[in-house]
Parts: sequence; C-alpha cells; structure tokens
Amino acid sequence: VCQAAGCLSSQSNEVARALVERLRAEAVSDVGVKRVGCLGLCAAGPLVHLPETGDMFGDVTIDSPRFEELVQRLKTADPANDPRPELPTFFTRQTPVVLENSGFIDPEEIDDYLARDGYAALRRVVTEMTPAQVIEQVVASGLRGRGGAGFPVGIKWQTVAKSASPDRRYVVCNADEGDPGAFMDRSVLESDPHRVIEGMAIAAYALGADTGYIYCRAEYPLAVQRLRTAIRLAKRRNMLGDNILDTQFSFNVDVRLGAGAFVCGEETALLASIEGQRGSPRPRPPYPATSGLRGRPTLINNVESFANIPPIIRKGGAWYATIGTGRSKGTKVFALAGRVARTGLIEVPMGITLREVIFDIGGGIVDGRPFKAVQTGGPSGGCIPAELLDIPLDYESLSDKGSIMGSGGMIVLDDTSCMVELARYFMEFSQEESCGKCIPCRSGTTQLGMLLTRITEGRAQISDLDRLEELSRMVKATSLCGLGQNAPNPILSTLRYFRNEYLAHIADRV
Ligand code: SF4
Repeated sequence: VCQAAGCLSSQSNEVARALVERLRAEAVSDVGVKRVGCLGLCAAGPLVHLPETGDMFGDVTIDSPRFEELVQRLKTADPANDPRPELPTFFTRQTPVVLENSGFIDPEEIDDYLARDGYAALRRVVTEMTPAQVIEQVVASGLRGRGGAGFPVGIKWQTVAKSASPDRRYVVCNADEGDPGAFMDRSVLESDPHRVIEGMAIAAYALGADTGYIYCRAEYPLAVQRLRTAIRLAKRRNMLGDNILDTQFSFNVDVRLGAGAFVCGEETALLASIEGQRGSPRPRPPYPATSGLRGRPTLINNVESFANIPPIIRKGGAWYATIGTGRSKGTKVFALAGRVARTGLIEVPMGITLREVIFDIGGGIVDGRPFKAVQTGGPSGGCIPAELLDIPLDYESLSDKGSIMGSGGMIVLDDTSCMVELARYFMEFSQEESCGKCIPCRSGTTQLGMLLTRITEGRAQISDLDRLEELSRMVKATSLCGLGQNAPNPILSTLRYFRNEYLAHIADRV
C-alpha cells in the first residue's frame, strides 16, 4: 500500500490498517500487507499493488467498492496460475533506475533495501576499488547533474578530488526542491532514502570526505523523518559513521532544514544557509568545488544525481551510458502534472519524445481537450508548443527550443490555458523569491511582472512587447545567480511560440 505523501493525503494509511484487520477477520493468512513508497500513478491514489499477481488497484478508499474488489481478489488469487493483467502504458513505457525500488520496499526498513542489493555498491567501493576507479565509473556513465544545470557529475567529482584541501572536504545533497509542480526529489526521499545516503557515501569515499549534509526543505516533513530514520538505521548496520564495514573509511551525514526560500536551491546560497547565515548567493568563482562549505572543497549534487550512483557502481558506468542519447545519458525522473489524464511520478530514458510521455504514459489530455503546450523546468524553464511534441526529451533539444530540462517538473497545458497568464504566474513567483541582492533581478522581475499585469489587464501598448523582450534579455544577462538569469525564460519562450496571445490581449484594448 503506497505510503508516500500523495497517497497518504488520501488516507492510504487507513487503507493499510483496514486491510490488515479485514484479512485477519476473514482468516486470510497467506497475504501480507506492506507499506511501500511511491507507486507512481499519483492521480489514482490511494494505490495498492499486488506484486505476486501484478494487479494494481487505484482509488482504494476504505468504504469504496474498490476496497471490496481488492479483498475478494486477495482471497481468491492464485499467483502461480492466474494470467498476469496487462498494466497500463503508464507503467510499461517507463525505465526505472532511480525508482527501481520505489513501490517495492518499505522506506523505513533497511532490510528491504539490503534485500534489493542496497549498499552492495558501497561495500564494493570500500573493499575493492580505489577512489580514482570510482570516479572513473561516474565519468564513464556520462551522468549529468539532475538538479537543473546538467553539469557532468564525473567532472565535478574530479574537480573536488583534485582541489587542495588542508584537512577536510564535504559532500552536500541539495534536496531543496522548490519548483511549482515538482515533487521528484520528495518522492525519492520518501520512497527510497537509503539510495541517496549510499550515493553520498560513495561520493565521500571517492573524494576523501568524511562529513556530509542533506539540505532538505522543512515543508517535506515525511521525507525528513524517513531520512533521519534511514541515517539512524544505516549507522546501526555500520553503513554510515566510523570505520564503515570495518574499513578505515568514515562518513557521517546530517540533515539540515531549509525554511522554504527558493533561492536556497542555488548552491552558494544553500551553503551559506548550512553555515547558519542568510541564504543569499555570492559571485562565483570561486566555485564550491574548490571553496565551498566553510571554505573547503565541497561536492554538491542533488537527490536524483546521488540516487543514480549505486546502480552505476553496481552495473558499471558503461551500462548506464547505453541508456539515453548523445550527450544526455541515462534516465530522468519527471513529475508529470497539469491537464494530463495520468499525473504522477515517472522515469523515462533520455531521448523519449514529449508525445510519448504525454500521450502514451500520461494518457493524453483530460476530457480529450486539445493539447496546447508543456512547461518544463519550472520558473526557470519554458513552454514547448504542440508542433514540437516529437522532439526528443534531452538537455540539448529542450535548450535548443528555448526551455530547459530543469529538475524534472513537467506541467501539461490544454487549450483553456492563457500563456500570458502563465508567464505572469511564474514571474510573480520569481519576483517573490528574489533575494534582492542584485538590482537586475530585484527591480527587473518587478518591472517584468508589472508589464505582464498591464498586458493581461488590457492596458498595454504594442511597444510594451518590445520593452518586455528587451528587459527580459537584460535581466538574463546581468543577474548574479541562476534565479534571475533564468526568471525571464517563461516570457521569452511564450513570446517565441505564442506571440499571438500577447497581441490578442493588446488588441482587446483597441
Ligand atoms: Fe538574489 Fe535574484 Fe540576484 Fe540571485 S539574481 S542574487 S536571487 S537578487
């Protein structure tokens, strides 16, 4: 029974409890009820999966007919002889690597993780491999940072490893997911927290670090609780702490809570916040890889990047590089949201088309309405229109079309959405989250927001479109950090593909 935040909010814990009681009352002794992480199809929660038979039950509330159907199925199922049901393409078109355990293990039971090869990669690394060999595998995998910028993870590891450090290096996990509509990192942490810890421990071994921090936003209480449980259990089993697996390698990791400022996802702001200072970005260089936390070389990767590391070590970097396209290797986890029939958490190989994601996996648009656009990359991203539905989903193609991969938020829009309103919504978000340190972002986002409001309220002149574009480019070029540099992207991409909607708002006035 799914016990991630989405299903829990529709009382999936009550379903699990009622199921245990009912099976006991009916003397069904050969069925166990297990609490697991995210099963992916959040739109149909509470979800119950029968792994032995392959059945997936959605919308199982305790007083619904689905609950009765589920009980009857459990009483009569014959896993050895029953034909396995055909699962929806939502499940069959995915390639789980990061999510390979999600929905199969109890995130609060370390034995579940161990039973699925958990910590096998860490064991191999500390007993059989040199730090250089570990980095070699990560470089060979072609993995790029999954937090948004897409910088090659292996190169980052090499830079930190080479940085002169008198005494200490740090490993930091960025779990400050803040894009509207994005819930990939939260789901991974809620469903498989040991995987992230194992990835961090492997990085620490490769870089000669002995201390790590997971910076997680406080709005994710369940993820934080499961992380803390996982850290406690891993220490008890000698997978974290001093002399891991009876070797000379020690690594301690702690959770630090962010107070919900979007800018703290920017790495220099994040480090300042861990140090107990106000979370605002600073100019780079120096980069955190050479001078990060407390002035020491620091590796910062996000949740999904670390979660990719254990399978890369277990199966080899070359194996990982066989998935995906040219310079975009591996899989990507997306939070599929908006006007799509099957919303939820998905993992697909890089290079799959947007059409396959939205129509085959997502089941198309709600109520059969026409597809209009898909917004990727949150407030730093852009909108891809219907005529580009067949472009491959990879870093290069998205950026070529004026959007970004971002951390994996994907919001699908139908013909009822106003693209100018959408741009205004994201600009208001950036304006509110701007830390105010540099003028182009502080004043620029405010001015852009005012221009967009004037357009949507029908008070704009045609010349305002030129001002909007010019100011967007200026804010992009001169802001200090990624927040300001990318904040105008939703405006520029909607101007590029949906200029007629801007013109329609202005024409309304004439
Ligand atoms: Fe702060 Fe915006 Fe400048 Fe970044 S770009 S430092 S968020 S004011």
